[in-house]
Amino acid sequence: MSTDQASSADQLLASVDAEPGDRVRVHRDEDTLEGRVMPRHGFSDPDVVVLKLDSGYNIGLRVDEGDEVERLETGGEAPEQPPAMPDDVDELPTVALLGTGGTIASFVEYRTGAVHPATSPEELAAAVPEAFEHARLDPEVVFEAFSEDLTPDHWSQLADAVEAAFERGVEGVVVTHGTDTMHYTAMALELAFDELPGPVVLVGAQRSSDRPSSDAATNLTSAVRVAAETDAGEAMVVMHEGMSDETWAIHAAGRARKMHTSRRDAFQSLDHRPLGVVTDDAIEWNVEPREPADRVQRSGSFDADVGLVHSYPGIDADEIRAAARDGLVVAGTGLGHLPSHLAEDVDELTDEGTLVAMASQCLNGRTNMHVYETGRQLVEAGAIEAGDMLPETAYVKLVWALATADDPDEARELFRQPQGREQSPRTGFYYPREEAR
Ligand code: GLU
Repeated sequence: MSTDQASSADQLLASVDAEPGDRVRVHRDEDTLEGRVMPRHGFSDPDVVVLKLDSGYNIGLRVDEGDEVERLETGGEAPEQPPAMPDDVDELPTVALLGTGGTIASFVEYRTGAVHPATSPEELAAAVPEAFEHARLDPEVVFEAFSEDLTPDHWSQLADAVEAAFERGVEGVVVTHGTDTMHYTAMALELAFDELPGPVVLVGAQRSSDRPSSDAATNLTSAVRVAAETDAGEAMVVMHEGMSDETWAIHAAGRARKMHTSRRDAFQSLDHRPLGVVTDDAIEWNVEPREPADRVQRSGSFDADVGLVHSYPGIDADEIRAAARDGLVVAGTGLGHLPSHLAEDVDELTDEGTLVAMASQCLNGRTNMHVYETGRQLVEAGAIEAGDMLPETAYVKLVWALATADDPDEARELFRQPQGREQSPRTGFYYPREEAR
């Protein structure tokens, strides 16, 4: 990395050769602050130095021009907080905490001061004392990745870890995940199990833990509460419901979608009411959660190749063909359309054995390919309607259906049948603005 790309935090620390664990004094205007340098991670704000003060608190200092730093001692190991397990921890339900990466993982590193996410219950208890009031957490790092880098193989790996956790007797599972593709993974985990003996709760954070507005701790605590305190046998997503720190929404797998790049309430349920809400003192359901089963039972796999393409004015046959593999999901316009002249190409693709599904890029509402000629031609060409499934949901489901079925007809049927809450046969869909009227 060239020097002009180095962050101002790195530059300030490098100016005195200070490493994580070293004790430093930062001079700013009239003030001085002393503490140990905390480790930095992939999600750290490049312009913030985090110090652990003698009081035990961590403080993030945004580096200003004119700041000066002195190195007082070399500290060797980065500081660790003493383990703080609550006394009654053995009486609480056990919840597996499966780490997969993302901004939320950095929260755990940042709070423990370790350079890796917490892997022992003691480290975790030190990092998330709030969550430990509700459960005995059983941590495992399944992988550490940005969620945009995940593939269907990661869904399988994660499903294996969820299965193993229930087999060792946990009451619920929390999966910490990057938010970019968390809704795909939620759908995958819902499809990966015929039976779940407890809730599988996915949670992420929109704001890094070294920012004052971080949602990492409160999202994680709410997710742990849902996993520990509810009787539900399904996969769901728990994230901030609004802008305040008062309520967290519980979204159904297949219906949750990231709808904003940065807001803490970025996740919304589409075409479905949120399953429930977590408040400071209760978990309230809008929709009765699915009863937990007695045991964990896997279903199918994700070993199939599917493309997902967005239709737009000017899209051509080459683009459709390049995206088509064993299967193709098109986020079509309106009721589920592609430009009329591409119906012939869809016909050829389905003849060659590709399963083609049409969803709608409107996101709200359902496809109806019998209203206009364009839709009818696509149906005649063999395309399947995704109904009210989101394009991303349809993508995950088509991967699963193709990998799980023994033949194309069975794959088509698996895709069309509701497997969980990801699609409904009726048109009475949920639309938040409608609710507000
Ligand atoms: N883009 C990254 C991811 O989805 C980091 C952002 C986040 O964790 O929300 O993993």
